Amino acid sequence: MGPAAEAVGTFINTPLVARLARALLGQVTLMGTGTPSKRGGRRTHMRCRRCGRHSYHMQKKRCSACGYGVMAKLKNYAWAKAH
Ligand SMILES: [Zn+2]
Repeated sequence: MGPAAEAVGTFINTPLVARLARALLGQVTLMGTGTPSKRGGRRTHMRCRRCGRHSYHMQKKRCSACGYGVMAKLKNYAWAKAH
């Protein structure tokens, strides 16, 4: 151990480096995708058995994409583009 190692030790002990190290270790979260408690829990939509899209509302019991649960025919609007 020489003066160089001591210099490195002093550098590592600075608050900035400590924060970066914690961020790398995952102890400091860079928030961006909401809180986990809100994301978890009940799902509002499930896979529709008619159109196969993930648009069937479980509480409303109807599919927002094809209208399953509301109408017998496929939901179709003139203003709705094919894609
Ligand atoms: Zn559907």
